[in-house]
Amino acid sequence: MATNNPPPIPDVAAWARGLTDKYVERIDMKRSAVNSKHAEALASRTRNLSLDSPAPSPQLSSSTFGDQKGGSSSSSSRHTSSRAAASSSSSSSGLRKSKSKYALSTSREPEVGPDGLPGYSARSTAKVPTQPTDSESIKFRRLLQALAMVPQKYENPGLLDEALAVIPLTRIYAEAEEEHQVMQVEAMSLGKEKTKWGYQDCVITALMKWFKRDFFTFVGDPPCQRCYAERRPYETRSIGATQPTEEERARGASRVELYQCKNEQCGNQERFARYSDVWVLMQERRGRCGEWANVFTMLCRALGSRVRWVWNSEDHVFTEVFSEHANRWIHVDVLEEAFDKPRLYTEGWGKKIGYCLAFSTDGVADVTRRYVRNPRKYGLPRTKCPEEVLLYILNELRAKRRENLSADDLKRLEKEDREEERELEYYERKSMIDDGLIEPRSSTRREGEKSRHRTVGPAERRPRGDVKAAQPESNMLESPERMEQDGH
Ligand SMILES: [Zn+2]
Repeated sequence: MATNNPPPIPDVAAWARGLTDKYVERIDMKRSAVNSKHAEALASRTRNLSLDSPAPSPQLSSSTFGDQKGGSSSSSSRHTSSRAAASSSSSSSGLRKSKSKYALSTSREPEVGPDGLPGYSARSTAKVPTQPTDSESIKFRRLLQALAMVPQKYENPGLLDEALAVIPLTRIYAEAEEEHQVMQVEAMSLGKEKTKWGYQDCVITALMKWFKRDFFTFVGDPPCQRCYAERRPYETRSIGATQPTEEERARGASRVELYQCKNEQCGNQERFARYSDVWVLMQERRGRCGEWANVFTMLCRALGSRVRWVWNSEDHVFTEVFSEHANRWIHVDVLEEAFDKPRLYTEGWGKKIGYCLAFSTDGVADVTRRYVRNPRKYGLPRTKCPEEVLLYILNELRAKRRENLSADDLKRLEKEDREEERELEYYERKSMIDDGLIEPRSSTRREGEKSRHRTVGPAERRPRGDVKAAQPESNMLESPERMEQDGH
């Protein structure tokens, strides 16, 4: 990768921006190549799905975000953040011109699945999306509408410029380059053409390390500042919530947690205002998983990645980044410094999960199956609304996210959705085979397979990208997951 050579001094920021631009350009070129092939098919498509216009999105209370205090190794280790912004301050002025790289494309119509029905998945064709009518379902819909707004806030050139000014780009890119070179050597020695991860994946892991180790601080019970300053034990305990001050309110705090110093001679109270505004959080640089995931996801976006902000109904949030190299969405949990370890929560922590819903600027997806590989062991009952209603709500939200996209962009996203659905179906199927609930395909369908092999035409063959989704257990996906080392 000639374009990824270490930066020519002195304008490191410009070099990094160039890299991001090239990356985005490359993706765009790739997309347009893919899209043009399908232009004809697209023209003949019908889109007749009419959706109710979604209700206005209510303000999101920060309690919606993950609040969990436990479950992180970082709660015990306090970080000394190096707050110096390593990047030159001149970077933002130049960047404001390059607005377009963050901009989304325009116009689109409501989507339908490949079969003309709303939605795409086998699940969705088996179930008929049903409008929410009962109060619980309507409440859940309102929550999801609010959650879907979170990643929308990242699509702000000013914010992303600010983020780029905060990230130590030289360090991140140098680390990524080094890691990628190691992978190249590794691949070569194994006689493989493809490295384990792509350069941009290495950028994300380098960003994650910096973010956790030097940028953001985890707040369990906040330390007593007075005792900390006087080198006494500084532990506090929660004594409930309180009203935000004028200043806290002005910065968007919806609520404030109050903590009392455990030292009775001190009696100092500490406030921990919960902010959901990602601008403010970038300044605050502390919080629980909600704050971590919010800022980290935005920073990944600033570095040119496509991102998802993933909400888990059991009080956790994390990130997914689309890897162009692996051609799939990758689980990233910055608080746990976990990259592509989707089994961390269930098999690692023993956590049971109801929903994991992923929100991006151009879609929503129920990605629970990626995180709950064995629902019989780790699945919680999904009681927020009937599954048919959830389908309806997700279709509605997705259509809303995509209403202004071009037909080409739409086509590309729908293809990606179908590929992801195949990936998720694979996990589901594999776990059922593992549990002896169904027979492996090879034995049950031997007859069918034979005849299909003879008759299969080019149109029925899976496109190249699908191969990876169909074989996700190969190489990188099942790379050793060090869950037990993640502090649990
Ligand atoms: Zn104290």
